[in-house]
Amino acid sequence: MVGQRRRRLASLFAAAAVTAVVVPVVGASSAEAYTYTGCRWASGRVTLRNTDSANYSGATDAAMNAWNGGTKSGVYFAKVGGAANVVTDDYNLGNVGFDGGTYNATSCPGGYLDNNGTQVVSRYNTFYTGGYNVSQRTSVMAHELGHVYGLNHSDDGAVPPCAQTKLMFRSSDHRTIECAIYGPRTDDLNGVNARY
Ligand SMILES: [Zn+2]
Repeated sequence: MVGQRRRRLASLFAAAAVTAVVVPVVGASSAEAYTYTGCRWASGRVTLRNTDSANYSGATDAAMNAWNGGTKSGVYFAKVGGAANVVTDDYNLGNVGFDGGTYNATSCPGGYLDNNGTQVVSRYNTFYTGGYNVSQRTSVMAHELGHVYGLNHSDDGAVPPCAQTKLMFRSSDHRTIECAIYGPRTDDLNGVNARY
């Protein structure tokens, strides 16, 4: 029944069925939780084309701006209308257990994604996000954009209290719904800023 769909835990990362195996690389000190996928952009200026439908476009803009407000100079998403490094969209992928996914972000010969050609896709699964408010949709896309920058899921072990939960926490039930985390937290920003 509509409205009674059970929210599922995960946010798919990298569509493992169609991309390379993700090898988490722990790059943080013991006090930090961020981890890396092993890929980074050659340039921190990452172009983004928002092709979302009307109900999602604003959430993607907010997610992009949330990152741009915290990353260091030279590391930002630049919204463009044509060819872009990252394309965002929204589809009903069905009851698959994740409310967002990022594709093609882990194929990076030599460890670098090419700002001249790579096209990563970050996608809402509207099967779940159709029931989310704009802030919750922003959370989903902000998390996916963290993957775009090369962050893997934060290494939190068991489910941490909200005060210690990162945007890159693996479970959107906890991160997005319970904790209302709608943009990068300090640890997430530290991870990106240390990478570029
Ligand atoms: Zn994820």
